[in-house]
Amino acid sequence: MIKFDSVVKQYPDGTVAVNGLDLLAPSGQITVLVGPSGCGKTTSLRMINRMIEPTSGRIWLDDQDTGTVEPATLRRGMGYVIQHAGLFPHRTVVDNVATVPFLLGVDKKRARAQAIELMERVGLPASFAKRYPAQLSGGQQQRVGVARALAADPPVMLMDEPFSAVDPVVRAELQDEFLRLQSELGKTIVFVTHDIDEAVKLGDQVAVLRVGGTLAQLATPGQLLNDPVDDFVAGFVGRDRGYRSLGFEQAGDLPTHQEPTVKLGDDGARVQRAALAGWVLALDDERRPQGWVNAHAVPPGVSVGPTLLQRGGTLAPVGGSLRAALDATLSSPSGRGVLVDENGALLGTIRAGEVIERIESQLAARREASASAPAAPSAADPASTPAAPSAPASAPTSAAEGATA
Ligand code: ADP
Ligand code: MG
Repeated sequence: MIKFDSVVKQYPDGTVAVNGLDLLAPSGQITVLVGPSGCGKTTSLRMINRMIEPTSGRIWLDDQDTGTVEPATLRRGMGYVIQHAGLFPHRTVVDNVATVPFLLGVDKKRARAQAIELMERVGLPASFAKRYPAQLSGGQQQRVGVARALAADPPVMLMDEPFSAVDPVVRAELQDEFLRLQSELGKTIVFVTHDIDEAVKLGDQVAVLRVGGTLAQLATPGQLLNDPVDDFVAGFVGRDRGYRSLGFEQAGDLPTHQEPTVKLGDDGARVQRAALAGWVLALDDERRPQGWVNAHAVPPGVSVGPTLLQRGGTLAPVGGSLRAALDATLSSPSGRGVLVDENGALLGTIRAGEVIERIESQLAARREASASAPAAPSAADPASTPAAPSAPASAPTSAAEGATA
């Protein structure tokens, strides 16, 4: 756990970068600091490992006041990843990853062997070990940066816009890999970004900061999208937030319809018999959907081949979100959303109207719940942010810490 306790940072020129920050980053979770440029994200992050000293206030690491811990000792337990990875250009990839183990005096051969394991863990082939950073793409360099930060197996990871310098497709890949890695490692992570989409994708909780270095809102991604505390947060969270919030709502058991299907290689005559409103779904031998077939394109005597498939539609996974369910219905050429099980096998199809009905009934339930519990509707969700910890004990209902600073 990392806890900011009334932390202030005023730079020598008078700039107040962080102003009375109270924040708790729970162990084993990802806490994202997000906000516009200059709102004090980097300053806050660097105060955690004492690259920057607070002007006043304290930062706790579990039960230790970090102000009393040697910076070098503190940093050994805190991996640090920055934009552009910050690799040593004249060291090979494997030696970059092994930087900290080398410093700690780990035997070089062992440190390199571990470094190669870590490279594979972050999705880099071992064959890259002897390359130099300049011989890698931006996304690959960023992976090296993550591997290097993980090399000493620190319980805490501090990440400052680590994925901001790469293109959107690579960024999405890095984010997905990062989430997969974290689900295995369970580190305590403080992650800084200016990108609200990245924040809601990665964060277990998200702290929105405003310029001047105060906390505007601390909430789960779903709460942030559903319930921004004020116009600043609503504006920052941005357009489509109603739709995006569906990404954090479980779809539950939706009415599932039987869907007629064909297989690759089936004749057009079979397609004609099976098609419903002009479309039929093609499966492979494991009943995994391969794409939709337009019945007009497959007359009798022609067989269903891969080039006839329309693959544009997304699949709704069972147990997925309302957003995934609605998107599957809206993106399907037939208008019928494809629902699949854990193995990707077809369960049936779902309808946009029925997903909307589910959305409306869940919204109605939420409105009813907040009407019957008027106190602090935006207080931290106890399930995911334990114990509204940054609120002072004397004011347990203060939902928007920092708003009065
Ligand atoms: P962010 O990472 O959110 O963009 P920073 O923490 O880098 O913001 O900066 C917060 C504020 O502090 C900004 O106004 C910035 O100009 C100022 N600042 C940052 N570093 C210094 C410094 N060394 N001296 C003076 N002002 C600084
Ligand atoms: Mg910054």
